Amino acid sequence: MTPLTGRAYGHPRPPDVDVLVVGAGITGIYQLYRALEAGFSAELWEAGGGVGGTWYWNRYPGARFDSESYTYAYLFSKELFEEWSWCEHFAEQPEIERYLNHVVDRFDLDRHIHLGARVTAATYDEPSGTWTLTAGDGSTTSARFLVAATGVLSVPYFPDIPGRHDFGGESYHTGLWPTTPVDFTGKRVAVIGTGSSGVQIIPLIAEEAASLTVYQRTPNWCTPLNNGPITAAEQAHLQAEFEAIKEILDTSPAGFLHQPHDRASTDDPPAERRAFFEKMWRSPGFSKLISHYTDVLFDDRANAQWCEFIADKVRGIVRDPAVAEKLIPKDHRFGEKRPPFVTGYYETYNKPNVSLVDLQETPIVDMTAAGIETADGVREFDIVVWATGFDFGTGALLRMGIVGRGGLTLAEHWSEGPRTFLGIQTAGFPNLFFPGGPHAAAGNNPRYNGDQVDFVTDTLVHLRDRGYDSVEVEPTAEQRWTAMIDRGAAKSTFGEISYYFGTNIPGKPKKYLLNSGGRPKLFAMIDEVVANGYKAFRLARSADSSTSSA
Ligand code: NAP
Repeated sequence: MTPLTGRAYGHPRPPDVDVLVVGAGITGIYQLYRALEAGFSAELWEAGGGVGGTWYWNRYPGARFDSESYTYAYLFSKELFEEWSWCEHFAEQPEIERYLNHVVDRFDLDRHIHLGARVTAATYDEPSGTWTLTAGDGSTTSARFLVAATGVLSVPYFPDIPGRHDFGGESYHTGLWPTTPVDFTGKRVAVIGTGSSGVQIIPLIAEEAASLTVYQRTPNWCTPLNNGPITAAEQAHLQAEFEAIKEILDTSPAGFLHQPHDRASTDDPPAERRAFFEKMWRSPGFSKLISHYTDVLFDDRANAQWCEFIADKVRGIVRDPAVAEKLIPKDHRFGEKRPPFVTGYYETYNKPNVSLVDLQETPIVDMTAAGIETADGVREFDIVVWATGFDFGTGALLRMGIVGRGGLTLAEHWSEGPRTFLGIQTAGFPNLFFPGGPHAAAGNNPRYNGDQVDFVTDTLVHLRDRGYDSVEVEPTAEQRWTAMIDRGAAKSTFGEISYYFGTNIPGKPKKYLLNSGGRPKLFAMIDEVVANGYKAFRLARSADSSTSSA
């Protein structure tokens, strides 16, 4: 295949590469692989000092998959799948990082990856139809196509607590964890936040610290991850069943292996219902969402029964009844927020060195050089851990300094929330793709994001085969997809209190940031685009700017 780079487009200087990928997470690595495999020249710029994206930055103790390792991993290579033996059903961060480095080495991608290159500006040049990128260190490059695989959970959020910068001890965010180990031994530690990251790190810190104080604003419906090592027999089964596993994952509505249940809670008498709840409690990870009673997420009574079951479990585990009550959510249903999965979380509160501060009773007033002041006084700390989440969905894209056609900034175009087609492109920004961004996924992310990367790559090949070098989604297609997302959001089981609506970030537009149509809608729309010859996009040749809608 002839790379696009170097062809005569009627402008003085061809772009440095055909495809510039930003972000070396699971999506970006796959995009780099697919672009090179398709014969394009491609480079990848990554802000971090290593590859892995989320799984590079979130290297805090206890960080691990909540999806089964073999369902989160790549499926594009049978050999890769078969040669990598995951140690655990839900792998821990170091193993995930090793795996992603292995993929980069195995497919000879490392020579195309530039680490420590945080993109600070990306500007579209209309006459040449190319993007110019600048990194924080001042280096620049240009590309025909820009693929921002910058992820949805890549901008850590620090709440604006008065005096935050005054704290004199060590301070870490789970999403910006240092590469050198943090020693909690004998230290007085505070953790702020009890979302999926907080509940993973809390039990591990409690094992080392002299004291651990957890600052909880809102408890979550946490259920056991039920992790375990993958036995030799399971390993053999996984490797023998690659095709079957791939088939299920490639067609699964939310990208999981778990199968939906065929019964509603009302189909079973109380004793059987309780037994089924017990089975769910003991089931792995997301099966508690996917394989639960069909009505548990949709019917208030069914949901309340399941919540009461979890509440009883918490009361049974946590010895201090007052602490147990504080750990039981009162403000939301199960599934209204993304539920965290835990290993030994509730048990941690039985340790003598662990205490819980309920911020609804005693809000944080201030941070001082020595510690944290709440309504009931000051507690002093050596280390504060911020497990306070992320600017989800749009955070990274809006910080990249993206400027499209006519000087339009992405921040302006998305001032009222993201507008996308397929969660892949936005109007006014030709040749920019953002697989794995807002409106992209709602489930097991690598599966959706892989679908999107495949579509992006197929689109680039479609252009090349027909002599085009510019592609921009039509505003009508963008409106249609965005309206579909908004309509679906109104019916979503996730509530507006979820960060999926951006409501965790002060001032952020309240807009649904997931793909409310799920994978079936993504597949259907991609099929439609291909069947009607890319009518949803404006295809052009930058040299003579002739266009085609077919
Ligand atoms: P998160 O779910 O947004 O949780 C943030 C926590 O910080 C919440 O408890 C929040 O309390 C608290 N918080 C925010 N502002 C605060 C303030 N001003 N004062 C006190 N507390 C405050 O973030 P996360 O735990 O990092 O998880 C984000 C997502 O990352 C997860 O939902 C998941 O998708 C992903 N994740 C995945 C895994 C995995 O797959 N294994 C692991 C970790 C994270 P409120 O609830 O009151 O806002």
